Amino acid sequence: MNWDLHCHSTVSDGLLSPARLAWRARANGVDALALTDHDDTAGLAEAQAAARAAGIRFIPGVEISVTWNERSVHIVGLDVDPAHAPLREGLARVRSGRLGRALRIAEALARVGIEGCLEGALRHAGRAHGIGRTHFARYLVERNVARDLRSVFRGFLARGKPGYVPHQWASLEDAVSWIAVAGGVAVIAHPARYRFDPAQTGRLFEEFRRCGGAGIELESGGHATQATRLLAGLARDLDLAGSRGSDFHGPGESRAELGRLAELPPGVRPIWSVLRPAAG
Ligand code: AMP
Ligand code: MN
Ligand code: MN
Ligand code: MN
Repeated sequence: MNWDLHCHSTVSDGLLSPARLAWRARANGVDALALTDHDDTAGLAEAQAAARAAGIRFIPGVEISVTWNERSVHIVGLDVDPAHAPLREGLARVRSGRLGRALRIAEALARVGIEGCLEGALRHAGRAHGIGRTHFARYLVERNVARDLRSVFRGFLARGKPGYVPHQWASLEDAVSWIAVAGGVAVIAHPARYRFDPAQTGRLFEEFRRCGGAGIELESGGHATQATRLLAGLARDLDLAGSRGSDFHGPGESRAELGRLAELPPGVRPIWSVLRPAAG
């Protein structure tokens, strides 16, 4: 089975509609797909219908933005019921901070002489409440400020760069509990991308587990083989399951194509062993 349990649609910062993602997944040989838009479940119904038509399994998901130790960490929820009130309300609260943050990003960019970014980024964001750094990055590429998304992040939007503004997202505890009470399982997204030292990563995993977290992403579009090996050891030690997700955002933009990832390392319990069996 080819599982891809992490990707984005136009509901957040992806380039393809939820339906197009499902069809692309099927064309790429994906057997089971989770759509995990940032802080939003609005694309799940469309993706689910398309996945059914395409004959692939669909797992309703979400990727929740969390602030942990003053750093952003992403928690993927798999097999969640998007109608469940605590999850729905929690996500609405997280999204409600995005527009104000966008305004502060635009002000920060204006201070280094790049004006008009809020309007520009809003044009790239399908929904104003889903506006994020990727939309700023696309706008800055369009303006020839940098040649691709990576360079925009490196020069302007990453932590410590002129367009970066600190922001308070959900707490780790809240995010994991919203996912759990909505019937889902929580997974730490792309842990190798946070630039934590091994001790911090260990503390994050332990706290996550204490909160009720179930797994960590071992195979991710953002991971090198060496990182995956180290993380797999940690997962086994803490009895956390392993997950696999491309974090696909769009053709030509992402580190991994939908469904094109290595297998989970040996000896790791796959997260799909704790997902409920497919309905119907
Ligand atoms: P936000 O939730 O607004 O902070 O935006 C986070 C998103 O920015 C991530 O989900 C990625 O899609 C994107 N992103 C973060 N860092 C990079 C990077 N170095 N290169 C390209 N995209 C990035
Ligand atoms: Mn993203
Ligand atoms: Mn992420
Ligand atoms: Mn993601």
